[in-house]
Parts: sequence; structure tokens; C-alpha cells
Amino acid sequence: MIPTQPIWQSPSITPTIAPPNTESKPKFFSLATFQRFVNKVPFVAFHLACFTVFLVPFTWLPFFMCIGFYLIRMFGITAGYHRYFSHRAYKTSRVFQFVLAWLGCSAMQKGPLWWAANHRHHHKYSDTPEDVHSPVAGSFWWSHVGWVVSTAHDETDFNSVKDLCKYPELRWLDNLHWVPGAALALICYLMAGIPGLVWGFLLSTVLLYHGTFLVNSVCHIFGRKRFNTSDESRNNALVAILTLGEGWHNNHHHYMSSANQGFRWWEIDISYYVIRMLGWVHIVWDIRTPPPEKLIPNLPVLDSAHSTAGSAIAPSAMSLSSSGSVVSSAASSSMVATSVAETAAVSTVVSAAVTTAVTTAVTTLNPVVATLTGQ
Ligand SMILES: [Zn+2]
Ligand SMILES: [Zn+2]
Repeated sequence: MIPTQPIWQSPSITPTIAPPNTESKPKFFSLATFQRFVNKVPFVAFHLACFTVFLVPFTWLPFFMCIGFYLIRMFGITAGYHRYFSHRAYKTSRVFQFVLAWLGCSAMQKGPLWWAANHRHHHKYSDTPEDVHSPVAGSFWWSHVGWVVSTAHDETDFNSVKDLCKYPELRWLDNLHWVPGAALALICYLMAGIPGLVWGFLLSTVLLYHGTFLVNSVCHIFGRKRFNTSDESRNNALVAILTLGEGWHNNHHHYMSSANQGFRWWEIDISYYVIRMLGWVHIVWDIRTPPPEKLIPNLPVLDSAHSTAGSAIAPSAMSLSSSGSVVSSAASSSMVATSVAETAAVSTVVSAAVTTAVTTAVTTLNPVVATLTGQ
């Protein structure tokens, strides 16, 4: 008997990766299918082409071009595509908005509308089967590169990025998203010839791919949770360093509309520092940061009283508003109350310990002081 359903729709089979979007499933022989295939060629070809670093003579200029273009374009992805276009964490002029979009495009991760639409979808359905790149609902490799290589998520849900679609220059750039990358490749070639192209563009772009993808894969598996979010997002210091601050992913899922993702002074967040500096010279403004009560850790602790309070922050109590901010006021109150109680308990223990230590020190030192002073 010939099956009438694709295998991933069969009720007897549980898919191990997110099923392709059947609405956009390409026909086997069509121009659209060919174009989708061609679109994947650069991603694979760039990886293979990186091996040419062993074939070109090493000089320092291409090496520093690799690092420099990595950092500049990572800023375009994190401060531009992510914090600005996806979350509107700060405001800027239309000109600088275009600059951010151009920088993001030069990372060869498609256009700002596609990127922001998929990212908003990720927050809305994070770590559920609907999530486009969850290592929890899918697999590690699906979340890291599988969803990119697949054609399942090639389409853009323009309804989720209406606020960006109203700018014709962004729509234009989204259509021709490869232009900034091609321009950078030419600049690299003009600066340092073939070694410049290999180090400054190819290797740098592949490192950028995987730096960005680490947030989707590693930061939903490895690291620490400070906040009880409805997903498995984690804070990962190594990824934060590699991605200019994106690794503080649990912080970000907890308060996603914030321009900063490092919530403590030691949580290095280079993108945020640059955004702040741009704020000083009025290139950006209205930089959003979390209110103090949102910075209090709210993970439930193990004793029963706290576990009860922790249950108030179940995922079902949280919802995503259209502006991308988390709405959970009742749960938030419980979290704050729990955290305040925990803080008070810790303060009591610490003050008792300090008092004991001081008393012991005074008792011990008194005879010594009396001897030295001759009393
Ligand atoms: Zn995430
Ligand atoms: Zn985000």
C-alpha cells in the first residue's frame, strides 16, 4: 500500500527533529526548489572553502581582518538583528537603523526581516515542538545547523514583523540580503588579495555562523539558570565572550526586551557597552533595561514552602505580548515575595556568622592587646 502521508505526519512515529513546514514544502522539480537549493550552496561551500587557509601564505593583515570583521559583524547580529530588530530594545534614527541592517546582512545570515521573524517565533514557542531551533524539543544538531540547512524555515512570516515591514529600504535589503556580504568579500580581496578573502571573509563568516548558532544550541543546554523561565535557556560565560554578550541567554529569556543581557557587573556584555557609548553621542536612545525587581533571581528552592511559591511561576502563567515583553504580573509578585524572604533569611544567617566571628576575634585579641600595652 502506498502511504498517503509524509513520514513525519504518521501518528505512529514521533519525529526526533522539528517537522518541516508542509505549507512551504517545495515541489521536487521547480524553479523555486532549484533556488532554495542554490541558497544553501554558499553555507556549505564557505565551510569547505575555509580549508584554503592552509593553502595561502600566512600574514598578519588577513589574520586581523578575520578578527576585526568577526567582531564588527557580530555586533551587527547581536546589537542589530537581535536586540534592535527582534526586540526593539532601543531606538535609533532611520539612517543608523539601515546601517545596523547592512552590518547584520554582511554576516550572511539572511535579511533582518527573516532573522527577526524567526527569532520572535523562537521566543513565543521556546523549547516546544513549535520552536524553530530547540535542542530540547529537537536535537542539538538541528538547533545548531539543521534548521539552517533545511528549507523548512526559508519563508518569512511578515505578520510577525509588521513594525519592520513599513520601511521600504529594509524590505529591499531583506530581498537582496547577499549584497552587503558580497561587498565585504570584494573589500577583503582589495585589501589583501586571496589571503584577505580567505581569512577576512570566508573564515570570519564561518566563525560568525557558529558563534551565533551556539546561542541557539549550547545556551539551551549548558550553563546556569538564574531565572525560572518557561524554557531551558542558560547563562553561559564562554558563549557570552564569543558572542559579545549573547551568552547570558537565561537572563535574556527572562527579560527579553532589555538592551543588556549581562545583569551583573561581571557578566561581560560588549554589545551593551557599545550601545551605551552610542547612546552618549545620541546615535541611539531610549535604551531599555530591566526594572530592579526583575533582576532578583526567582528560581524556586527545594523546601516545600518555597516550592509552592515556585509553582506560581509555571510556564502557563507566562505569556508573550505582541511587543515581545513577558507578561506575568501575578507570578512576578510571588517571585519577588519569595526572593525577599530568601534574602532576609540569608541576611540573618550572615549577620549571626559575622557577630560570632567578631566576638571570637575580640576575645582572642584582648590578652594580646593587654600584653602589648602593658595593662
Ligand atoms: Zn533562546
Ligand atoms: Zn531574543
